[in-house]
Amino acid sequence: MLALVKEKPEVGLWMREVDIPQPGPNDVLIKIKKTSICGTDLHIYNWDEWSQKTIKTPMTIGHEYVGEIVELGSHVRGWKVGERVSGEGHIVCGECRNCLAGRRHYCPHTIGVGVNRDGAFAQYLSIPTTNVWRCAPDISDDIISCFDPLGNATHTALQYDLIGEDVLITGAGPIGMMAAAICRHVGARNVVVSDLNDYRLDLAKKLGATRTVRADKEDLRDVMHELGMKEGFDVGLEMSGSPQAFSGMVDVMHNSGKIALLGLVKPGTVIDWDKVIFNGLTIKGIYGREMYETWYKMTTMLQSGLDISEVITHRFDVRDFEKGFAAMNSGQSGKVVLDWQN
Ligand code: NAD
Ligand code: ZN
Repeated sequence: MLALVKEKPEVGLWMREVDIPQPGPNDVLIKIKKTSICGTDLHIYNWDEWSQKTIKTPMTIGHEYVGEIVELGSHVRGWKVGERVSGEGHIVCGECRNCLAGRRHYCPHTIGVGVNRDGAFAQYLSIPTTNVWRCAPDISDDIISCFDPLGNATHTALQYDLIGEDVLITGAGPIGMMAAAICRHVGARNVVVSDLNDYRLDLAKKLGATRTVRADKEDLRDVMHELGMKEGFDVGLEMSGSPQAFSGMVDVMHNSGKIALLGLVKPGTVIDWDKVIFNGLTIKGIYGREMYETWYKMTTMLQSGLDISEVITHRFDVRDFEKGFAAMNSGQSGKVVLDWQN
């Protein structure tokens, strides 16, 4: 089968012929229809410091996908050949305290599909049934292929009560944009999204941001006053990984405000701890998605009017994957979907 392989430890990705994986007793084999490119895939393509530490070559990468079950492992029950599925990109141990308690997203033994083992940028993927998500028939393949990052956005945004609240989202990457859509969908009042990139801020607006902010040109306090917010933001969703964005967020939170931290802020990032302590802020780190409450909520929000379709800005046949990665690298993109069906 064809696969996009990180073949050697240098910049790039290579389309190669590799063996179709053999499903183990508890696995299903999925024929991939569409995949979408994650920021993580871009890091691996660009062979940045994190990838050099993390990725063992050769490795088939990718973890955002939709496909169809074509084969069942010998012990598999409850799944059928032909079912349309996506899957959770984190494989967990099932045995640790958190897994046993149903808090699987906190498993300390998490293995990343397409990061720590072969992934979904291939014609076939074999995955344990505990990672498979059955797709609702009324949601398109393109949207399902984005369920993994939509899950990050959902898991982060739904940490706190948003009804009538004023929300600040720092970072209008695909996840920040989708989070803006979710905040509006569930009833936030102001959804302010900041970024340094006009293309992405325009997209965030299309998805539901009520006010966008050029973080390098505008002051969030001025925006607060313009919107008549006297005391600051009730909820902050950090989705940029920028130290400046995170510390700036801490500065404009309402006393007792709540921050969900998804962006991977660099070690050594400094924030004003006095503001956290004396203003009674909550800061919660967010990793992955809840298995499978987040997947359920994504599905039902889409079925009750959440529209994230504008986040997909580029679609390519997988043979044109270089164009897809170039679009992601340009910063002038939302999600990029690759089609494996032809
Ligand atoms: P992305 O890199 O596409 O988007 C980040 C955005 O932040 C970019 O548009 C960038 O221009 C913007 N930005 C940079 N500096 C900024 C500043 N000072 N103020 C405001 N915006 C600024 O990333 P993404 O794929 O949308 O993911 C969002 C973040 O979440 C990333 O940091 C990513 O690494 C992280 N992430 C974490 C998890 C997790 O499980 N914790 C999962 C997925 C992604
Ligand atoms: Zn575990």
